[in-house]
Amino acid sequence: MSIEARQYINGAWVAGKSGSPATRENPSNTTEIVGSYPLSSVEETSAAIEAAQAALAGWKSLAGAARSEILHRAANILDEQKEELARVVAREIGKPIGEARGEVKRGVVLLRYYAGEGLRAMGEVYPASDGKTLLYSNRVPLGVVGVITPWNFPVAIPIWKMAPALIFGNSVVWKPAEPASLTGFALMQILEKAGFPKGVINMVLGRGSEAGQCISSHPLVHGITFTGSNEVGRKVALAAVERGVKFQLEMGGKNPTIVAADADLPKAADLTLSAAMRFAGQKCTATSRVIVEESVLSAFTEMLVEKAKSLKLCDPMADDCYLGPVVNRSQHANILAAVDRSVKSGAWLLTGGKKPGGNLENGYFIEPAVFNHVDPQSELGQKEFFGPVLGIISARDLKQAIAIANEVPFGLSAAIFTRDVSKILHFIKSADAGMIKINGETAGVEPHAPFGGLKQSSSHSREQGRAAIEFFTSIQTIAISPSNEI
Ligand code: NAD
Repeated sequence: MSIEARQYINGAWVAGKSGSPATRENPSNTTEIVGSYPLSSVEETSAAIEAAQAALAGWKSLAGAARSEILHRAANILDEQKEELARVVAREIGKPIGEARGEVKRGVVLLRYYAGEGLRAMGEVYPASDGKTLLYSNRVPLGVVGVITPWNFPVAIPIWKMAPALIFGNSVVWKPAEPASLTGFALMQILEKAGFPKGVINMVLGRGSEAGQCISSHPLVHGITFTGSNEVGRKVALAAVERGVKFQLEMGGKNPTIVAADADLPKAADLTLSAAMRFAGQKCTATSRVIVEESVLSAFTEMLVEKAKSLKLCDPMADDCYLGPVVNRSQHANILAAVDRSVKSGAWLLTGGKKPGGNLENGYFIEPAVFNHVDPQSELGQKEFFGPVLGIISARDLKQAIAIANEVPFGLSAAIFTRDVSKILHFIKSADAGMIKINGETAGVEPHAPFGGLKQSSSHSREQGRAAIEFFTSIQTIAISPSNEI
């Protein structure tokens, strides 16, 4: 069944005025059109922003408990419809259905968590120096918040931004990434049923260069939360700085996993591959470099390559699918070209890196690629390919491994496999990463713990859990003094 997505502006479903809609093909079988979506004009995006501004006063004056009730309802409806939504995700972006189900379930947990925030403390009381004044701080919403999201976690990321924005009293204009427009529509249909007042939550679809750009530069938008590439993140930040509004960016990674000489090698190989290859390496926290201590390099490489060869490319709708297609034609071409350049520049391709034939010919599949002899300073050692491509790098010892791990502009996630407490402690102290895993894979985050990167992976605020209050609110400090002595 083909989905005809619409935008949600001021409590109404809007088909889109400008030109014909864009279509979305199924990345695992491009002969199937999954649906179509409108490309929002600047006028439509502006109308959504104006609707959010008009709804703001009423929404922020509601009691936290009333906003909480609506978020709880949204969580329950999402929970009831989780299978349908997961199937849209799998068809539209090629995420294996098991992972898509997990992501939707995470969305339910996030909504419940933030529903709870409506009933928690919003400030602190301080002792005033005169002993009489009531001196306290209160958290207030930013106003209209622009939410610009990527395609790779099309349910969890929008929810982990919108749920805190809404519970703290902001109104929202959300723009999903184009390759996930149909999922955006399906999620918005669920959220609509929760009963948000008209204009409190709006969704526009279409191009980043129009709808996205309009959100980041519009004078009525008082805060922008963005997840996506570094290139676009910089533009969003510049537009926000120009207007002096708060912004938050979560961006790319080139995440390292270190395998120390004493590691449990089979476990390290399994989890490194899982982080590198699941969802075809299209996670910001995916492992793309594995740095191995020299003494176990050949044993680890052999094990890893053997396991990589046994991974089967599969239809994302299959319950046990591990490695599906990449998201679209341009990503498919970009990744294959990057693999080719890496071979030409001297890295050794040990397995994969090709488009398969047979019954997968009609999809954007790439066989999982593992390289060794990777120069840490090469494109393969430095750039985010966002595909099923892993580079093995050799290191003399742990010190050199950590130096290599840190020698990239990114700092999102980093992992080490070792049984040695001294190595663990040294790694934690030295790794330039916002998310650190010991004997675990770089990918995967808990919904209630702070999430974000260091260096160029982030604008250094944090998302999820209690951390979200820092971005989505401003602090007012209030002093109430008696007018006369009693
Ligand atoms: P992208 O930067 O191409 O797009 C992200 C969003 O920005 C989309 O909604 C897009 O339409 C919009 N956009 C594009 N141009 C714009 C402009 N000029 N002004 C405003 N908005 C604009 O990223 P993507 O391809 O959707 O996602 C992949 C990237 O996201 C990868 O780099 C990945 O590492 C990163 N990512 C980071 C995290 C994290 O939390 N750190 C999580 C997921 C993905």
